[in-house]
Amino acid sequence: MTYIPKRVYFEKRALNYPLGEKLYNFFNKNEDVEVIMMKGNRVTGIPKETPRQFYVEGKNSIAVRVWKGSKFQGCKPSAHYQMPLVSGCSGKCEYCYLNTRFGDKPYITIYANIEDVLNRAKEYIEERKPDVTYFEASATSDPVPFEPYTGSLATAVEFFGKKELGRLRFVSKFTEIDSLLDIEHKGHTTIRFSINSHKVINKYEHATAKLDERIDASKKVYDAGYPIGFIIGPVILYEGWKDDYLKMLKNIKKKLGSTADRPIRFEVISHRFTSTAKSKILAVFPETTLPMNEEERKFKYGQFGYGKYVYKKEQLKKMEEFFVENLNELFPNSEIDYVI
Ligand code: SF4
Repeated sequence: MTYIPKRVYFEKRALNYPLGEKLYNFFNKNEDVEVIMMKGNRVTGIPKETPRQFYVEGKNSIAVRVWKGSKFQGCKPSAHYQMPLVSGCSGKCEYCYLNTRFGDKPYITIYANIEDVLNRAKEYIEERKPDVTYFEASATSDPVPFEPYTGSLATAVEFFGKKELGRLRFVSKFTEIDSLLDIEHKGHTTIRFSINSHKVINKYEHATAKLDERIDASKKVYDAGYPIGFIIGPVILYEGWKDDYLKMLKNIKKKLGSTADRPIRFEVISHRFTSTAKSKILAVFPETTLPMNEEERKFKYGQFGYGKYVYKKEQLKKMEEFFVENLNELFPNSEIDYVI
């Protein structure tokens, strides 16, 4: 079911753009949505008596704004630049990096001036000629749940379809991709789905699409000729994990593997957490059952002084062996980008 927020804030200038106007008309027609004109460009009034309330109400709020940056943020190592179409997400995954890194702004932002964003992308592509320039549309968001009313991804995919030297990629836990199926994308956009075992999705990935729905959506975009991939993660090594993850892989194979003639890319990432993330998760999900017992993990120092708790070496080795063996067997022409 399409995500509809409780309240939508509009920056006045956003209404000068076709997308801003379209969204204004769309949400104004819905009696259950409160439409608020912003004073300046500040989002105020999201209830925040507790961190949990701020989180939930933030997820119920959209701000439609004008992208004013002159530069895109970098996005190494996966792409050259972040693509600012949307930031934030309507999902409520307990381990989400948006909560742990951008918890002070839990609402969703949609940029109305997509024309300016694409023009900036065009300049970057020109600057890097003759090299190919990669853009990531999901660095600080999952842009898919909003696609039925924004159409931003479809516009961007079409734009990149016409660019010999520009590539777009994004990853999602949602399935609203129908607007992308009939576009001349020329294979310039890679669509990845983030997946996990049924058990992990049901327990921790609230308000997202179910595993089967994600796999069905991947089949649709695969059949529409898009390069596709799966990010499997965060892999949680609970009792019986091998059975569940194997079922998940066989399910993908059943739904698209037998007809898969183009390679599918896989990335596998084990569960990890930092102390900051743990306290932010506990503030919003005090009852969480996420495995975050430091004593059961290995502390790994990070690049910028903070460290993270990862699974122990032996466990990671078993996980890697399991995924490499099964992915190679089930998807012989797949490419495994990494298992970490
Ligand atoms: Fe975060 Fe992705 Fe879940 Fe959205 S779907 S809450 S971006 S982990």
